[in-house]
Amino acid sequence: MNQPAAIAALDATYTISGATLVDGVTLEVNHGELVALVGPNGAGKSTLLSLLTGEREPTSGRTQLEGRLLSEWPHKELARRRGVLTQDNNVAFAFRVAEVVEMGRAPWQGTPQSDEDDAAIADAMERTDIAHLADRVFTSLSGGERARASLARVLAQQATIVLLDEPTAALDLRHQEDVMRLARQLARDGVAVVVVVHDLSLAAAYADRVAVMSKGRLVTAGAPGEVLTEQLVEEVYGTPVRIVPDPTTGAPLIVPVRS
Ligand code: ADP
Ligand code: MG
Repeated sequence: MNQPAAIAALDATYTISGATLVDGVTLEVNHGELVALVGPNGAGKSTLLSLLTGEREPTSGRTQLEGRLLSEWPHKELARRRGVLTQDNNVAFAFRVAEVVEMGRAPWQGTPQSDEDDAAIADAMERTDIAHLADRVFTSLSGGERARASLARVLAQQATIVLLDEPTAALDLRHQEDVMRLARQLARDGVAVVVVVHDLSLAAAYADRVAVMSKGRLVTAGAPGEVLTEQLVEEVYGTPVRIVPDPTTGAPLIVPVRS
């Protein structure tokens, strides 16, 4: 028998006050796979993610985790299995960075896994390059530092499904690469990873599959080199691009045409 997908939207539609934000999307992500979710602003990426996390329920169609309807999972079980970084990853209170990361361990409280709390927290802070910020107040951090601290919280959770909404948006070049490399490592360790990312070259460099959304629909999903054609990118984004192979890796680099 086939293993069920780690996380799946099956013909999922989400409608609110007459607007269809997600329109009949089917997307299955397996353990060990990194899927980059791309598309213009307002395409429905965050809404689709909120369906996949169980934050919202589809108006029609289904969303499943490990083959079971998300709505059927007990909240606690769900919290142990999937980690979520939302687009507005802000902590409103004056927590220290180490405390924010520690919050990722909350689902494991009272289980044998809580023995690993300290190691998981230290490892997450190391991998996101924020160990030196441990005692800083979260709200005093720069946007990029906040994003990394929030990502560390998700890593500390040690979930086997990880959904990240624009984790690289506030980051400088090096930390963008660091985050995507990290996402890649998670996938290599068997985690199912979905990352919303705007930089198509970054998506192409690190993802196993790129899923392209436009106007609530999933336009296409597949290997970066197959999916990201000049025609498709131009059509979806409404601006001309050239696609050239990375001189080192051959991965597609998406370059806007400028006159
Ligand atoms: P993305 O993450 O791809 O930028 P979103 O999923 O956040 O897109 O939003 C998709 C679209 O749905 C946007 O055009 C947004 O303005 C719209 N939208 C979001 N929430 C609501 C709502 N409550 N009612 C109507 N439209 C909404
Ligand atoms: Mg969004």
